[in-house]
This record gives sequence, structure tokens and C-alpha cells, in this order.
Amino acid sequence: MDVDKRTTTICTVVAIDHTALYYTVCSFCERTLPETNTAPPSVTYCDHCNFTRNTSTVPHRGGGGSTSKRLFRVLMSVATETKVFEVVMFDRAARVLFGCSAQDFVDFAKLHPFSGETASKILEGEMLKVTLSKPKNGNAQHQRVVSVVPLKSGFHPAMDTLRELHGVRPDC
Ligand SMILES: [Zn+2]
Repeated sequence: MDVDKRTTTICTVVAIDHTALYYTVCSFCERTLPETNTAPPSVTYCDHCNFTRNTSTVPHRGGGGSTSKRLFRVLMSVATETKVFEVVMFDRAARVLFGCSAQDFVDFAKLHPFSGETASKILEGEMLKVTLSKPKNGNAQHQRVVSVVPLKSGFHPAMDTLRELHGVRPDC
């Protein structure tokens, strides 16, 4: 049996797949929902927990109404001293680099097209200390980023730079 083996390494971001930075989950049971092409979270039905917008027997969460949410799932190529390889980075680690939640990012990208592309460019070349885990799950192709620490002193998450580029102040 494969053990969840962890390694820590220093690497540089070579490229980020900006076409698929996030995925959609049911905000109730957090299972993956099929991606729709419509921009707002418009999925109203989850096969797993049967959570629908109209359900009154299911406890409400927060403002109610929204039945799906976005989480980061970022594929990126990184280079170590000896090789270049692809890793997948999920929500918790990706937030460190992006500086916001996936939902905030999607909302921002709606107003500012090409934000995904720009964010990827911003992060390319960053030196990172990453902890990688080889999933026990045999069908996962990529090593997973468990944690990430940017090495540059004064590192700014991509979102900070994006907001600066677009003249958006976080406190407005
Ligand atoms: Zn669900």
C-alpha cells in the first residue's frame, strides 16, 4: 500500500493553467458539482445531498440562496534544480498565492477579464517552498501541494497585484 509520502522542496513556478483555476462544489455537502458555463453560481440542485434552493427542511447557511461555491484547484508546473513537473494545488494552499478565496477571485474576474491569465503571469517565476504529498489514491495523476511558503521577502499575493493594476483599493 502506498503511504501518503510527503516531501518538502524549493521550486520555481514555471506555468499555471489559468483556464481551470477553480471548481464548483455544493455549498452544503462540498461535493464537486458539474461545471456550468454560466458565470454566477447557478447550480440549484446537488445529486449527492439533494440540496435545492427551495428546500425548507435543510438548515440554511449564511445568506441562503447560493447552493454552490468555488474552490481553488490549480494545476501548475514547477521546476526544481533537477526537473520540471506538474503539481495540483487545492484551496488552502492556493489562497496563500492568490490572497483571496476562489469565489472572490471569480467575482473579480467577472469585472476584469483576463484576471486568471494575469494572475498566472504574476505568479510565474515565484520561488516557493512547497510540501508535496503523493496521494494514496492511485488514480490521482499529480502530486498535491500540501502547503506553500513564498520565499521572496515582501511577496504579494496575486490578488493584491491585480487590484493594484486595476486601481481597486481593498478598503473601498
Ligand atoms: Zn450537496
